[in-house]
Amino acid sequence: MPGRILVFDPIVTNRIMLKAQLSIEFFDVTLASDFSELQSQVRLNTPDLILVSYQADRASNFECVHWLKDNQTSAHTPVIFLNNADDGAVWDQSHDLLVDDVLQYRASKWLMTSRLNLLIRSKVRLDAITEQRRTISDMGFAEQSIAFPPPPTKRIIVDLSLAAKSFGGHVIRPLAQLLKTDFPNLQLTSAPSKKQSKHSTNIYIIDSETLGTDAALAQMIALRRNGGAAAPNILFVVPKDNETIAQRALEFGASDFVFQTASAQEIASRIRRILWHHNIAHQAEKTISKHLKSALLDPLTGLYNRRYAMQHLNSLIRDRSDSKSTVTAMVLDLDRFKRINDTYGHLTGDAVIRQTAQRLKKNVRSADLVARIGGEEFLIILENATIERVKQIAERLRFEISSKTFLADSGDAISASASIGVSGTKSTWASSEALIESADMALYRAKDDGRDRVNFCGKAA
Ligand code: GH3
Ligand code: MG
Ligand code: MG
Repeated sequence: MPGRILVFDPIVTNRIMLKAQLSIEFFDVTLASDFSELQSQVRLNTPDLILVSYQADRASNFECVHWLKDNQTSAHTPVIFLNNADDGAVWDQSHDLLVDDVLQYRASKWLMTSRLNLLIRSKVRLDAITEQRRTISDMGFAEQSIAFPPPPTKRIIVDLSLAAKSFGGHVIRPLAQLLKTDFPNLQLTSAPSKKQSKHSTNIYIIDSETLGTDAALAQMIALRRNGGAAAPNILFVVPKDNETIAQRALEFGASDFVFQTASAQEIASRIRRILWHHNIAHQAEKTISKHLKSALLDPLTGLYNRRYAMQHLNSLIRDRSDSKSTVTAMVLDLDRFKRINDTYGHLTGDAVIRQTAQRLKKNVRSADLVARIGGEEFLIILENATIERVKQIAERLRFEISSKTFLADSGDAISASASIGVSGTKSTWASSEALIESADMALYRAKDDGRDRVNFCGKAA
């Protein structure tokens, strides 16, 4: 676990105390006593988290935090203000400066460690996302660096219905005001938001007082379970200084916790941080699945491409449960396709390829795979199909193509046909290449025998 912590504190006794306290928890601690030392330690040690002693002089806080956020090495590094008292002014400035948390020097060992770990974990996630993006761009996909804060996106619903006891109007109004700047599409609601919409991000505030601790924890677990992959974010409200409940809330999956006495600024800061991190992770997932799709799908037809089909075939062959289970490959090639291109033009040729893809998809089961593996060549993979069924499907696919004309953009009706070579696995065959090769041979003979026909490999299932 990465745990490089930089402590920036002008008071020597504070530095010594923090170093001792944090080293026991296996953090790797470096110290800075003034601003220039802070700068050189950031460059030298690239810390995972920075503790900054809050100064009564707001300008020096401003200078320090701005430098950290503007500096490339520390731009995504969480920053925590250290302070002597639970003072509203600290959260005020920390909210403005996008500081991640505020801790008191005399915070308990548990509180300090759990706050640090929470922030270090989100830093690690951010680093992993940055790394993924680098890989994506190394693979040749254009990729921008992650923006922090991420741009505001869809609707955000902050559901306060499970925190009625702690959060009355006196908290809700200033909270709404504070969050409005960063999230114009955010809505605070005291009515339970029944369903999770695809178009909104939900964050639930759950108060252990309103529901009782066990019911509140159970409620959180249920919300997360029902959310599936899109599990909602949860901010858990804990009675003042009750670390046992806070700990349980974190263990059961809360994104963060807050004590009941917290100011609107603190709550707003915590909500904002949860939402920003959620947003970044969500954006990253979206770009990855977009790139994955483009790497595995054929752009003309939307079918899987050769690369995906071969992987799929390999895993089917590898994972066959017993020697009786079969994998069948059909290679289908449009006949005399060059003529279609030559007669009607390449664009019309493309239209015929697209419509062929649709006809193939429509005539196999959704569990069967259809891929475009060459210009006018398709692969259909069937799992555990009997020889009768294979024959039936192959014949149906051939018929689908030759019996109905294709429609060109010009309105021309075009006749086409296809030849199909079929091969199936036998227990002794180990590779997808061998399977495709024998289907190709069968196809070749179908062409030789006059086209518009199905031919089975001699060794077929
Ligand atoms: P055969 O019956 O022996 O398969 O004859 P054929 O003309 O279909 O065979 P051949 O493989 O010689 O020609 C395939 C043609 O398909 C050549 C190529 O110009 C064309 N082609 C390949 N990819 C595309 C594509 O994406 N769009 C279009 N319109 N044509 C393509
Ligand atoms: Mg052809
Ligand atoms: Mg061909």
